[in-house]
Amino acid sequence: MLRNTLKLVLAFCTTIAACQAPRSSDPRFETALQKVWAFYGATTEAPEVEAVTGTSLDCGQGNAFLVPGPNNTQVCAAGAHYPGTRLIRIALPKPTKASATALAHELAHQLQEDQGLPDDYQHVSQAFQPGGIVGAANAMLQADGE
Ligand SMILES: [Zn+2]
Repeated sequence: MLRNTLKLVLAFCTTIAACQAPRSSDPRFETALQKVWAFYGATTEAPEVEAVTGTSLDCGQGNAFLVPGPNNTQVCAAGAHYPGTRLIRIALPKPTKASATALAHELAHQLQEDQGLPDDYQHVSQAFQPGGIVGAANAMLQADGE
């Protein structure tokens, strides 16, 4: 009985898009998102990318937003990755190219999570260093006019 119920649920979900992981990234980021995700060689589904705009940009002179930091603090950030959610949020104070945002940076955090690596919010891993994949991804985006 349980097995039949499971099969029914699976069949239902394969035909209804709403059952799948949320895939409603902000269209302003969608092309760059797919380019960076492919550039990283990621084999998982790309996370959802949400733009943070307007009054939600509540720090950094209207260019950033507060996110939970270590020890119950809040940090003013241009982007955020929320472990376990497949959601990243990117500050977008005005229309700008994706290469000028935190998109590649936050996607690197998602990639590391997907690879089972520990959170690197101190940015000590090679990905975030000069010559790392984040800089290379932004250079790729710039070259593509993104
Ligand atoms: Zn970071």
